[in-house]
Amino acid sequence: MESKLEELKARLREIRDLEGAAALLAWDQHTCMPAGGALARMRQIALLRRLMHERATDPGLGRLLEELRPYEESLPYDSDEASLIRVARRDYEQAVRIPSDFVARLSEHTSATFQVWREAYPAGDFARVRPYLERTLDLSRRLAGFFPGYEHIADPLIDLQDYGVRAETVRAIFAGLREQLVPLVREIIGQPPLDDACLHQFFPEQQQLAFGNEVLRCLGYDFTRGRQDKSPHPFTTSFSIGDVRITTRVAENALDEALFGSIHEAGHGMYEQGIDEKFEGTPLASGASFSVHESQSRLWENLVGRSLSFWRFFYPRLQALFPDQLGNVSLEDFYRAVNKVECSPIRVGADEVTYNLHVLMRFDFELRLLEGELSVRELPEAWNARMAEDLGIMPESDREGVLQDVHWYNGVIGGMFHGYTLGNILSAQFFEAALRAHPEITGEMEAGNFATLLHWLRESIYRHGRKYTTFELVRRVTGDELRIEPYIRYLRKKYGELYNIPDSNVNQTIA
Ligand code: ZN
Repeated sequence: MESKLEELKARLREIRDLEGAAALLAWDQHTCMPAGGALARMRQIALLRRLMHERATDPGLGRLLEELRPYEESLPYDSDEASLIRVARRDYEQAVRIPSDFVARLSEHTSATFQVWREAYPAGDFARVRPYLERTLDLSRRLAGFFPGYEHIADPLIDLQDYGVRAETVRAIFAGLREQLVPLVREIIGQPPLDDACLHQFFPEQQQLAFGNEVLRCLGYDFTRGRQDKSPHPFTTSFSIGDVRITTRVAENALDEALFGSIHEAGHGMYEQGIDEKFEGTPLASGASFSVHESQSRLWENLVGRSLSFWRFFYPRLQALFPDQLGNVSLEDFYRAVNKVECSPIRVGADEVTYNLHVLMRFDFELRLLEGELSVRELPEAWNARMAEDLGIMPESDREGVLQDVHWYNGVIGGMFHGYTLGNILSAQFFEAALRAHPEITGEMEAGNFATLLHWLRESIYRHGRKYTTFELVRRVTGDELRIEPYIRYLRKKYGELYNIPDSNVNQTIA
């Protein structure tokens, strides 16, 4: 069995190495490649993906995994070896169910849709991309069809991002969340708005980047095993556990853009940097799921980065760097500015309270589209109606509505959006568990010390990589199922104070 396990590891390492090489080509494409390299780069990445897919679906790999089944069953579920075989088998079984010609067709269709969306989006011209989106819906249904026996047609699509999470489970969690969020938003909007003008002055790029780097270093992002570059859309990418890179974008008239974007990506990055080195070169060497990944970026961005404790330490430093802009702005006013709640039609950049309402509607639409309850043609109207209902606003055009997110125009419909909100819910549940274990964390943050928190996250979550599914991990870390209560408690307390919502309302927390 030893030799078979070694053979498995060798095969998996090759797949990981091809993945790493493709990721490096993509990183270069998005950070520093001259425009003239675009065509050749697409070809190069496509070739690596093809080689990866060939190796990932090789019948020899399937046989090896079968031969290792008795060995896996003889080991404890959470042992490294059993987990490696289990996760490798899951990847293999998912990969072989989808015929190669379908993969090629879907990828061709996705590229074509993306090209059309790139022009339709700025023009707000949904009609132009609609036939493509109809075909995407059809292909998404067919993709689900390769995994018969599902409860809900979205389940197989969710499984590809977040294994074991069921659509009906998410639907129930989200219904409870919406019941809490809609009234909270109403209460907040009924109060005088907070003033964030101090963030919208001129802040030179170099100083913003220098400050951001100081923050990231302090939080614990390891620059000897990573780096930060600029890209139009910030992202995190890992070539190995020892090389996890992040990107940011800077707006010289908006101080929050680069800063919170960088902290967000560093959260993803610290997760990947914290995976146990012994998983290097295996499929265990990445985050548990899209949801858990997002829980970490949001935990660092919001629960840490937008907290008063954090700014008690960093604000004097920021003021020293920008005395003309912030010299007369108090800590409290700055804290209020970075937590301003505003009903806007755009998901990206939405505040903590309204953000999830954007996600919840997308998730509902995905389910109804896949179920055949909603057609692509009806989507813009349904979109606008839901915006009015939940946030009391109306998008000015489809550019601010149904066209705003690239996801459906650059992939399939289903499986992605729920992860943003599960991530937010989990960020609060994990943070509460961390504070229970180490109540000193809040005081340490005020002194610019994040070591206890980072260490706890590494021990509880990061080091395990992909060993556990989302729900398995939640149970292990918190001793409980995934719940919305910690998140609601967090939002009600923080925004109740920020917006002077009367205590009687704040105390109406759910049991
Ligand atoms: Zn993220």
